[in-house]
Amino acid sequence: MRVALITGAAGGIGSATVARLLAQGYAVVGVDREAAVVPESERAAHVRGDVRDQRVLESAVALAVERWGRLDAVVAAAAVIAGGRPLWETPPEEFDDLWEADARTVWQTAVAAVPVMLAGPDPSGCRFVAVASAAAHQGLFGLGAYVAAKHAVVGLVKGLAADLVGTGVTACAVSPGSTRTPMLDATADIYGLPDAETFAGHQLLRRLLDPDEVAATLAFCCSREAAVLNGSVVSATGGFS
Ligand code: NAD
Repeated sequence: MRVALITGAAGGIGSATVARLLAQGYAVVGVDREAAVVPESERAAHVRGDVRDQRVLESAVALAVERWGRLDAVVAAAAVIAGGRPLWETPPEEFDDLWEADARTVWQTAVAAVPVMLAGPDPSGCRFVAVASAAAHQGLFGLGAYVAAKHAVVGLVKGLAADLVGTGVTACAVSPGSTRTPMLDATADIYGLPDAETFAGHQLLRRLLDPDEVAATLAFCCSREAAVLNGSVVSATGGFS
């Protein structure tokens, strides 16, 4: 049985990924500062805590190993969004918060998980997947700190992939487009929009993505079959304009 760790597991995309991997037969440890959305069971555990704290990540990895003896896939999805003003007016605390919550935690998650994957029974089946964003590939006005942090997520994955060459473990990123989740509602609030549906027009599909559609891409990236996605960034936007 493959075992996965998902950060941001109580969020829109994270909870859809937990549900999808459970349906595929994985055991899953979710981590989030919020309570579990997908009920705990004999194949589903939830660690409630802040992923900026390395001890939370270490305990979630330890729980996976203690309960199921291995860790095969990680999805680093925890993140927050803030903004609404140009970068030169962004308060230092807001910039630091976004950097820490959205970029540094991806590195911290790798620090906690990769050594366990390397020492596990099947390193060549192990996948580290970070959730980036369409904002990792272009500027978005008023969201400069988030844009910078998400660009860093892509850099982290590329650096990690290079360091992992020859080990069998791989690292990639998935960049979702506008997906119907609480974070997109928060983004609409930042822009003073009545609701998140406005963002549908930014996608070539002319609709918002469903979290489960993004989860389907993440689940593939978690699979043994995704071995060629090393240092890759998969666009899950349906086209972004
Ligand atoms: P969401 O707000 O629904 O979920 C994010 C989850 O992360 C929340 O449950 C939150 O509690 C958790 N979290 C945040 N910081 C944390 C911390 N320090 N410790 C523990 N938990 C923490 O948002 P989502 O849309 O599901 O976002 C998932 C990922 O997808 C994020 O990385 C986000 O940047 C990315 N993304 C989302 C969209 C979108 O349109 N929704 C688009 C591109 C990228």
